[in-house]
Amino acid sequence: MGKIRVLADEVASQVAAGEVVERPASLVKELVENSLDAGAGRIWVEFQRGGARQVTVRDDGCGMDREDALLCLERHATSKIRQGIDLMTVRTMGFRGEALPSIASVSHFRLVTREHTADMGVEVRVSGGKTEDVREIGAPPGTQIEVRDLFFNLPARRKFLRGEETESAHIVHGIEAIALANPKVAFECRRDGKTVRSLPQAKELAVRIRDLYGQDFLDRLDEIEQVVGEGFAISGYLARPGQGRRDRLQQHVILNGRPIVCATVQQPLREAYADAIPRGEHPPAVLVIEMDPEWVDCNVHPAKREVRLRQPDLLKRAVYEAARGVITRTRRPAAPTPVIAPAPPRGETPTPTAKPAPAAPEPTAPSRRAFAAPAPQVDFVLTPEPPPPAPIPEPMAEAFPASASSRDLAPSPSDEALPYRILGTLGDRYLVLEGDEGMVLLDEGAAAERILFEALVKGMESGGAACQHLLIPALCELPAREFAWVIEHLADLREAGFSLDPFGNATVRIDGLPAGLENSDPARLLNEVVNAARATGKTSAGRGLREALARSVSRLASQTPTRRFPERLVRDLLRCALPYASPDGRPTMIQFSFAELARKFGRR
Ligand code: ADP
Ligand code: MG
Repeated sequence: MGKIRVLADEVASQVAAGEVVERPASLVKELVENSLDAGAGRIWVEFQRGGARQVTVRDDGCGMDREDALLCLERHATSKIRQGIDLMTVRTMGFRGEALPSIASVSHFRLVTREHTADMGVEVRVSGGKTEDVREIGAPPGTQIEVRDLFFNLPARRKFLRGEETESAHIVHGIEAIALANPKVAFECRRDGKTVRSLPQAKELAVRIRDLYGQDFLDRLDEIEQVVGEGFAISGYLARPGQGRRDRLQQHVILNGRPIVCATVQQPLREAYADAIPRGEHPPAVLVIEMDPEWVDCNVHPAKREVRLRQPDLLKRAVYEAARGVITRTRRPAAPTPVIAPAPPRGETPTPTAKPAPAAPEPTAPSRRAFAAPAPQVDFVLTPEPPPPAPIPEPMAEAFPASASSRDLAPSPSDEALPYRILGTLGDRYLVLEGDEGMVLLDEGAAAERILFEALVKGMESGGAACQHLLIPALCELPAREFAWVIEHLADLREAGFSLDPFGNATVRIDGLPAGLENSDPARLLNEVVNAARATGKTSAGRGLREALARSVSRLASQTPTRRFPERLVRDLLRCALPYASPDGRPTMIQFSFAELARKFGRR
């Protein structure tokens, strides 16, 4: 006897439900997407007990007539695509005609809908996939769908639901993502009878971001200069340097109107922000990508959360460029966290210090171009954090690649006025500055690191950083893996200012160190640099490694602070491509605006 049997429709729906409806949040998403597809201008979401008890989604969209209200509960009934070819170019949220029958098969389901031109609406009640009642009913135009007791007939699945808090958080986060993708639609979300999100229709994305996360959050972002590539365009908002977060919850990617989770985008973001935010943090982002639908396959994930892209590398490059654009454009010290300072006027170029950093390189200056250069290799992955290197005992000599030299007390060549007045030193570590907008504290160590870092990278790019030869060469025995790494990256290490050669088995001979580090213990220095570089980037060559080396050398070098002429320090810092963050992404300057001070002193 044959073993294959065609599943009863009801069972098939329950199986499909497992794919479409993982949890209450996914059913909210499906219902809200349907409302969007129906052209809604307002969407109300209400849920109880994490959505397991009840979810209601109501919209003012086109509604359905009686026939469609019944048909929409049939499997593969959809108004959105008619033939296979449509699948390639689908712009609606849904297209498989699976959501409603799936949801109705695992819940007590009630649909009330009315077309705008109709006098009466229709109500359909379904329980566990069985239609129980259909009748005419008075209703406002649009559609309301109520889902009670999700998985009531699949106890095993119900058990998989997490706590109410978790499920509620998923629902609200999902709504936030959709709301960001659709600023023109108003959303109202109520949890257990309390309004938790209320978003009026917004003309612009910025307004929606503000309504959702607040003005402070918006101030931490900068608008992307629109990138238009062949077949796609990127716009939106990205974190300014130093504005990372521990989680990715505020990293939103919207592709053709659809919020997605996309490694293709996360990776270049991570890479672009490697030196702009601390390790382990993620840049908040609202990236809006429009892409030729033929390049996107949305039909790979049951919940359409993941997409497959035909040209991921082009997009990666573009996202990277967009991010670097925002990062290098920022010319404003970080505000203290949490930000209390009021927003500077939006839309203005990010140089509110009336006098722009005078010596800041033009966009075409070499050091800047160096940072904007596309990463040569895209599969750059950050590995777990390395242990922080131990401080190097010897005091650092001051000689460092020319432009970063701290001994040089002579006024710098371009002697325009600094945008800050130097008031003094605080705690032997911070410079206190006064700028047009208020008080600025500058972390001397972080600033020195930034300056050294950029000088090093520049040096490495133009034929190698300065190297100081040692009177007595040192032999350094390395563990096998480190040794192999050193051999593989001899050229890069030399570029970073090491002079070294293999010397037998697992040993290297070091007869020169990066200028400024020549008083360190060579073996220990090499070890630390190698460990840090290995852990930072897997990229075997190019920008990733170069920067990793420069980062660890400059971190080690600035651990013994040298007394710099403060004005020189500020000047050199402002001349950097990225003055407001250390190479590790810590802030170099923090501003306390006059407005914030006034508020703290109760002056208004
Ligand atoms: P899909 O969205 O993939 O088409 P669904 O099962 O989610 O499949 O919905 C089936 C159909 O029901 C849709 O194609 C649409 O015609 C109709 N529909 C669902 N929700 C709504 C709504 N809120 N307003 C108007 N029509 C709706
Ligand atoms: Mg749908």
